[in-house]
Amino acid sequence: MSAMKAAVLHGIEDLRLEDRPVPRLQKPDDVLIRVRAIGVCGSDIHYYRHGRIGRFVVEAPMVLGHECAGEVVGVGSAVATLEVGDRVAVEPGVPCRQCESCRTGRYNLCPDVAFLATPPVDGAFCEFIVSPADFAFKLPDTVSLGAGAMMEPLSVGFHAARRGRLTAGDTVAILGAGPIGQTAFQAARAFGAATTIMTDVVPYRLDFARRAGATHVLNSGETDPVAAVQDLTAGRGADVVIECAGAPDTLQQGIRMVKRGGKVVVVGLPAVAELPLPMHEVTTREADLCGIFRYANVYGRAIAATAAGQCEVESLITHRWGLLQAEEAVLFADEHKNECMKVLVEIA
Ligand SMILES: [Zn+2]
Ligand SMILES: [Zn+2]
Repeated sequence: MSAMKAAVLHGIEDLRLEDRPVPRLQKPDDVLIRVRAIGVCGSDIHYYRHGRIGRFVVEAPMVLGHECAGEVVGVGSAVATLEVGDRVAVEPGVPCRQCESCRTGRYNLCPDVAFLATPPVDGAFCEFIVSPADFAFKLPDTVSLGAGAMMEPLSVGFHAARRGRLTAGDTVAILGAGPIGQTAFQAARAFGAATTIMTDVVPYRLDFARRAGATHVLNSGETDPVAAVQDLTAGRGADVVIECAGAPDTLQQGIRMVKRGGKVVVVGLPAVAELPLPMHEVTTREADLCGIFRYANVYGRAIAATAAGQCEVESLITHRWGLLQAEEAVLFADEHKNECMKVLVEIA
């Protein structure tokens, strides 16, 4: 087999299904993966609509997609951990392994990371990809390939929970109940949060959060979420706030609702690079503001927690399309974002 189908972004709103050569194993520790499930992410939609995210600009045709799982169909000569037929979730960012960030374990901050579907690196909306074996994580039989693709957004939730030092018995406020808010919720519960307060303004997402088991769900368009969190905590505030909406007002709310000495974990990326914050609240409460960029060292744990039933990501997948409909999938995820959670592209 030499050719494969791939969904290639040529420019703004120009996604084409093309034949591309099947990639080859390049290094002895590479594996070749037949891609079976890929989640549509907000970043895929953003590249499709705008051709860029911040400093990352699509200048040459690029395959979209970075949330993927599949089957190993080829292994390099040095691969001892995987064999043909294994089902794997693929961690999509491969760092240089040499720089200070890599050597201190924070490889998500590597300036030379090659991340799927981040220009100029091709992504996973295609039939085959190559990955280093240590970035392909074997899935237990009980974890589906769709759930395997969801290990990417779940890893964001795990990283946020870790950065927030979330622990058993905590009260956690999660601002924004879209796909990342939902994975942050799953992670918070797996880390032991006792009280989980989720806010949004979209009824579909609030219903979703309620069904998923959030202990409190607030429509922040109708209720003042800061006052509500103070009420729910007898004036103490939340131990940890995880901001997933990327809006200036939610970040401000998060700072006002966190407890003294608490942590505000900033997952959402605001559309504006600079915004005003209630800094006196930050200093007088010694609140920690933690930025989040992707994740590091969490994929294996996210899979183990899913296999153990501590996380349940299958239900996040609300819509499924085939690779031939990749553009429809991206359009649907954008145009119906208030009526769907995660759109998955599946390849039979
Ligand atoms: Zn994503
Ligand atoms: Zn590095």
